[in-house]
Amino acid sequence: MNAGGDHADDEPREKCGVVGVSLAERDAARPLYYALYALQHRGQESAGIVTHDGFQQHSHVERGLVGDAFEAGDLESLAGSTGIGHVRYPTAGSLDKSCAQPFSVSFKSGSLGLSHNGNLVNADEVREELAAAGHAFTSDGDTEVIAHDLARNLLEEDLVRAVKHTMKRIHGSYSLAITHDDTVLGVRDPMGNRPLCIGRLEDGYVLASESAAIDTLDGELIRDVRPGELVVLEPDGSGYDTYQLVEADSTAHCFFEHVYFARPDSVIDDELVYEVRRKLGRKLWEESGVESDVVMPVPDSGRAFATGYADAAAETTADGGVREDDGGIEFAEGLMKNRYVGRTFIMPTQDERERAVRLKLNPIRSTVEGKSVTIIDDSIVRGTTSTQLVELVREAGAEEVHLRIGAPPIVAPCYFGIDMATRDELIASDKSTEEIRDRIEADSLSYLSIDAVAEALDASRADLCLGCVTGEYPFDVEGEATDRPVEAPSTDAPAADD
Ligand code: AMP
Repeated sequence: MNAGGDHADDEPREKCGVVGVSLAERDAARPLYYALYALQHRGQESAGIVTHDGFQQHSHVERGLVGDAFEAGDLESLAGSTGIGHVRYPTAGSLDKSCAQPFSVSFKSGSLGLSHNGNLVNADEVREELAAAGHAFTSDGDTEVIAHDLARNLLEEDLVRAVKHTMKRIHGSYSLAITHDDTVLGVRDPMGNRPLCIGRLEDGYVLASESAAIDTLDGELIRDVRPGELVVLEPDGSGYDTYQLVEADSTAHCFFEHVYFARPDSVIDDELVYEVRRKLGRKLWEESGVESDVVMPVPDSGRAFATGYADAAAETTADGGVREDDGGIEFAEGLMKNRYVGRTFIMPTQDERERAVRLKLNPIRSTVEGKSVTIIDDSIVRGTTSTQLVELVREAGAEEVHLRIGAPPIVAPCYFGIDMATRDELIASDKSTEEIRDRIEADSLSYLSIDAVAEALDASRADLCLGCVTGEYPFDVEGEATDRPVEAPSTDAPAADD
C-alpha cells in the first residue's frame, strides 16, 4: 500500500469511496448502505459500515459488492444514528480481508472507525515508530497506521488537536471519514488530492467522497471539504464545526477523478464532472479534430467527451474555420456495451483482458459500415481496449478508424488511490503517440494536452496532481521526481504545545 518504485502486481493500490452520517434519531445504517451503493463505482472488492449507538460500536465488513456484502439482518444489527461506510477496490491478487474497511478499533479512550480513500507515502515510517512504542498492528495497511496514531494522540489531547497532530505526521493522499465514539469526522489531506464533500440531510449531515451519494439520500450538497480541513459532525445531527488544521501553498487535486473515476453526476471541487468531460471533448475537437462521417463514444466512459466533441464539430471545422455546411459530424452510438461484464481492467492476465473487451463491447454495424469513424474514449492505460476496438470496428466495415482520447498519455503509475497499472504495462510510458497509433493500428490518434485539461478544470497546472501524465508527483514518493518543493513531515512526535 505504501508507495516506492513501481508497484508489484499483487500490491494493493486503493481507489475507494468513503461516507459518514450523523442523524437526529434515525439509524444511520440504511442511509450509509444507500450511499455506498451510490459510490459502488469507486470500489467493488469489499464494503463495510461502522456505527455507534452512544454506548458501543458496531461493525460489518464483507467482501463483494454492496448488494452482496449486507443482508437485511446485518443492517438491523448496526445500531446507532451515527456511522461511516467504505467501498474498496485494490488490484486483483490482493484479496486480504484484513485490509477491508472501515478499520475499527477500541482503545482506552474510546472506539475509532476509519474509512480512507488515498494512499500515504510515509506509513512505514510512522508504523515503525508506533510499533517501537508498543502498538501492535493487524494489517500492513496505512489506514491502521492513521488509527493507531490518532488513538495515541487521543490519550493525551482533545479530538481536534489529536487529528491535527496526526495530520502533521502523515504524508500523502487521504480523504477520511472517521468515527470517534458517536462523533463523525471528515478530514481531507492538505493538498486535497482525493475528493470529499459535505451535505445536509433533512435530519442530519453527511460527508461523502462524491456528491452523488448525497443526492441519493435526498440531501443537498453544501460544499467540498477544504484541503487540510477537519469537519466534525454533531452527534445529534444538529450541525457541524470546521477547523482549518493545516495550510498548504498549493493544492493537488487529482485530474483523473474528473476524466474517468468519478460519476458524471457528481460535483467535485465545484465542477460538475459531466460538464468538465464535455469541455474536455470540445477541447479535443479544437486541438485535434478530424473530419469523419461519424463520431462515437466508447460506452460509458467516452460518452460525455464525445457529445462535447460533436457539439464543437458542429460549430467549427477541423482546421478552425466557421462551419457553414452540413452541421458537423454525426454523433451516433456505434458500440453496444454488455452491462453485466465487470471492468476489463481488473482481469489478471492480458489474454483475459482482451477476451473481456470483446465480451463487453460489440459494434453496431449500421453506424460504422462503409464510414470513416472517430472513436472517443477518456483514456488509454495499457492499450488493450483501443487495440481491440480498432480491430472490431474495422471488422464491422469501417473504412477509416480515428481515435481521440480525452486525457493526456498516461506515462507513469498513480500512487495515490487510482489503480493505473505498472510503468511496464502502461503503453505510453515508453512509446510516442505515433508508435502507439501504429501499435493499435488506428488511422490517426490524438490525446488531449495537459494545458487543455487544466483549462477545462479552471485550475492552474500547479494546483493539480498530474503525476500519471508527467511522472512528477506532488508528494514525496521514493524513487520518483516531485513537481514542486515537497516537505515530507518528520515522524517525530509533535511537541505538546504545537
Ligand atoms: P486499457 O484498455 O488498459 O488501455 O484501459 C483503458 C480503458 O479502461 C478505457 O476505456 C478507460 O475508460 C478505462 N480505464 C481508465 N482508467 C481506469 C482505471 N483506473 N480502472 C479501470 N478502468 C480504467
